[in-house]
Amino acid sequence: MANPTRKVLGWLGRCVDVMKIPDRKSLIALAGERVFGRGVEYHSWGRVRALAARDGKVSALVDGNRSYRVFLRIDDWPVGHECNCPQGEGGGFCKHCVAVCLALSEAERDEESSEAVSLAGVRDFLGRSTKAELIELMLDEAMRNERFRERLFLRAARINGKSFDHETYRRFLQFAAQAAASTDNAGSPPAVLKEVESSLGNLLEAGYAEEVATLIEEALLLIFSRPGQQSASQDLITCLLSFHHRSCRQLRIEPEALARRLFKWQTHPGMNGFAEAPKRYSDLLGKKGLKLYQQLIEAEWDRLRSDEGINSSEDQARFARLTELMEDAAKRRGDTEALIEIKSHGLTDAGDYLELARLCKGSGESDLALQWALRGKNLFPVSEAEDLFEFLVAEYEERGDWREALETIFALFSVKPSLSGYQRMAECASRIGDWEIWRERALGAARQNATAAVRPPRLNSKETKPNQSTLVKILLWENDEEAAWQAVQQGECDDDLWLELADRRAKERPEDALLVYRRLVTQTVNRKNNYAYSRAIELLHKIGRLMKKQKRKDEFIDYVERLRHTHRGQRNFAKLVDQMMARYYRRFTS
Ligand SMILES: [Zn+2]
Repeated sequence: MANPTRKVLGWLGRCVDVMKIPDRKSLIALAGERVFGRGVEYHSWGRVRALAARDGKVSALVDGNRSYRVFLRIDDWPVGHECNCPQGEGGGFCKHCVAVCLALSEAERDEESSEAVSLAGVRDFLGRSTKAELIELMLDEAMRNERFRERLFLRAARINGKSFDHETYRRFLQFAAQAAASTDNAGSPPAVLKEVESSLGNLLEAGYAEEVATLIEEALLLIFSRPGQQSASQDLITCLLSFHHRSCRQLRIEPEALARRLFKWQTHPGMNGFAEAPKRYSDLLGKKGLKLYQQLIEAEWDRLRSDEGINSSEDQARFARLTELMEDAAKRRGDTEALIEIKSHGLTDAGDYLELARLCKGSGESDLALQWALRGKNLFPVSEAEDLFEFLVAEYEERGDWREALETIFALFSVKPSLSGYQRMAECASRIGDWEIWRERALGAARQNATAAVRPPRLNSKETKPNQSTLVKILLWENDEEAAWQAVQQGECDDDLWLELADRRAKERPEDALLVYRRLVTQTVNRKNNYAYSRAIELLHKIGRLMKKQKRKDEFIDYVERLRHTHRGQRNFAKLVDQMMARYYRRFTS
């Protein structure tokens, strides 16, 4: 039964002011009822561990989906709080914080009955131990705790400082990369970063610039070889790059040698670390270095571009990387012509063709833009190239080429019919007086699309019918209610369209409208929420007005009574029905 938090905290009274531990009321004020409730559960399940407190500062781990670290400052009001769960990171006082406060006050209540050990007590104990005992203790811990072990390695390497221990530092940076990328809270990245900064700084000061540069290159290679690590390690990467720059400066590398070195890493497979190298190293490269750097890239790009250039997926990746670098350089120079030339060699998907077309268009080359867009259009199905088709439509419209525009919109419409696409076709077709033919084609496509989209019925599900919503929307837009009504019978349709259809039909075909309204009422009430109930009441009003016009008041009352009886368990709905009927009776009896 012993709650693990109890044992730890005998010393609590001396470490926090027990009067300041927030009570239930304050916790609700901080966290809100719901979160407070979750915190109570977490605490009662014994999820709080490693509770420690000192000078009003409290830290603990709370096990949830993961283990979360909570820091509190209970001397402050409102209580200072940090937790690395999503809610905590958003600044909220989360359930983990609540659980920790509850664990604290429980520990406080238990204080008298438990043995008292404080951090001060631990310090005393360490002070009385012999050096040999301490070494034994630390080595023992180092065996279990990787992070602690690496720190010891590093300290040891620093003490041995006279001869540079590459292996130790390499392992340390490796560890730092892992810690920075790990999403759990085992290694806290700011602390790791500090450690990296101070050790690399020390090495530079001791004159190990070449070693630092090499170490960093290796570390970056490691980081970039693990997909997903880059974004998590962004701070570490930035830190490493700045030290790399510093060590290159300290080494006074010849600009041309630096250009070769940067080029080598920049184009190393899997390495993405030296992005923006020309900018970052421009002070060290100078004009000479930059020029060589660019020449190296261009020469390699040309080589790969030639017929025998690309022989493996690695070459392919390298070419893509170099293309990017070439583009960056062209952009830096503001050389659109070169950019277009470069881009036209690495086209792989519809987006590439679109980008190129836009680039040409942007530099005033409309015909070239059209050519590239058309090439892309011929290579990819509409479904993969919607934006490219849109680009073409705009281009044709601009040129007044309505027939081509119409064909292209129709191609888009055929895969994804929509009212706006239909309206756009109508607009284009009206310019060439061809709407009747195109209208038939468009409606045919919309019908076919609805049928084609029918999913095979799952087990236990009713047979799925085609969704006629788009078709109905189009027909309603054309005010062809009769056709819309026919269409809706042949498939499914969104409720708001059913409603619009019923509203429009109420005058000529009240029976049809009433059927739709009543079905919608049942569906709506079954959603069982207050918003749905008030929507259902609106529908009942519509039914009431329509039936009154037809002198069917009694039938209406009968219908509502039965409805109320069926849904008598839904109290809020029944209440709204009663209110409505009270008003209804008043109006008709007065
Ligand atoms: Zn939390």
